[in-house]
Amino acid sequence: MIIVSYILIVILGAALGSFFNVVISRLPQGQSIVHPPSRCPGCHKRIKPWRNIPVVSWLALRGRCPDCGCRIHWHYPLVEALTPLIFLSLFLASGSTFDPTFGKWAIFFGVSLIIFFIDSFHMLIPDVLSIPLIIVGLLISLLPDMDIGFYSAFSGAAFAFLFFWGLGVLYQKVRKIDGLGGGDVKYIAAVGAFVGFPWVLFVMVAAAIVAVVFFLAMRLRRDQAFAFGPFLVVGTYIFVLAGESVMNWYVGLLSL
Ligand SMILES: [Zn+2]
Repeated sequence: MIIVSYILIVILGAALGSFFNVVISRLPQGQSIVHPPSRCPGCHKRIKPWRNIPVVSWLALRGRCPDCGCRIHWHYPLVEALTPLIFLSLFLASGSTFDPTFGKWAIFFGVSLIIFFIDSFHMLIPDVLSIPLIIVGLLISLLPDMDIGFYSAFSGAAFAFLFFWGLGVLYQKVRKIDGLGGGDVKYIAAVGAFVGFPWVLFVMVAAAIVAVVFFLAMRLRRDQAFAFGPFLVVGTYIFVLAGESVMNWYVGLLSL
């Protein structure tokens, strides 16, 4: 019967991914995310329900609008495919059960996937996403049977916020330019509220390592501005899926 759970997660994930795409394309423009229904970004014609099947429609139409022929951005099929895959991996990581921790991380990575793409495309993390995420993270820690309690969640959020805020102030003093965006500071506080203290340190190190690898691989210049939010999302994902194994490996290295 476990297969029913997998199918349910994939269908729900793809449908949610479809909605996340609407948020990703409309929120930075200040448009409503509920009205009007899905439209072509080029000709503004309404997309018919049978042409709105996640991933499949985009592939069948070869990434173009059937009415005006304009290109439909690749983030649409990507988010529609990524959302069910992330949910499936979280489900497997929680031992294929719908336990409260699975729900907690599904909420976190649902919102974080939206943040990942908005920050990548526009270098901004909207407050309407990051601030509620901080509050939800703190509230979830008050529930029974969660992986971390309120004290850990609160100190994780406070530590991460103060650390990044301090780093931003310092960077501004030294380089006379804004290094970290204000959005990053609120999002790292949300990460802290979900992973707790001291685990938020793990996420910060993991995010920094992934960012450095990305920098080197893409041959970016040192002074080139880039979004840090996506690396925090990846860092948190590494923590949730492999945090324990990595920590054990690290402790093993130290005791050699
Ligand atoms: Zn069109």
